[in-house]
Amino acid sequence: MKLMLHVAPGIVRKPIVSSVILETKSLINIERAKVDAVSGEIVIDVDPEKCSMVKAAFEEKGVRVVLLGNPIIKDENECIHCGACISICPTGTFHFEGSEVVADAGKCVQCGTCVTACPQRALKLVLK
Ligand code: SF4
Ligand code: SF4
Repeated sequence: MKLMLHVAPGIVRKPIVSSVILETKSLINIERAKVDAVSGEIVIDVDPEKCSMVKAAFEEKGVRVVLLGNPIIKDENECIHCGACISICPTGTFHFEGSEVVADAGKCVQCGTCVTACPQRALKLVLK
């Protein structure tokens, strides 16, 4: 299960991810991270059974946590099934089923690459 962590300026230099791993004894896979001196945006994947515990542990440390249940939306009225999103997505979120492009939204890490690549502007990130 994927979680988006929004790390605020006051805490971005603390070892928050490693602290939560030790505290919760959970395996946390970092799937995408954009961290600089003032803030951070990190997408992690965790065991669904430990998700609530991990989420609570991050929130206790002041991190805003968003569950990425359905991170990307494809407008079926606009999509022309050209396949551009299949080639460009780094996580394999899209694939052909027959002549149609379908999404496995659970794989998306919200990098945003497909949104700008889609010629139809059919893709949108769900931001919370
Ligand atoms: S790039 Fe856009 S139009 Fe092409 S298959 Fe993907 S969503 Fe559909
Ligand atoms: S935002 Fe688009 S390209 Fe990036 S991981 Fe999600 S589906 Fe793939």
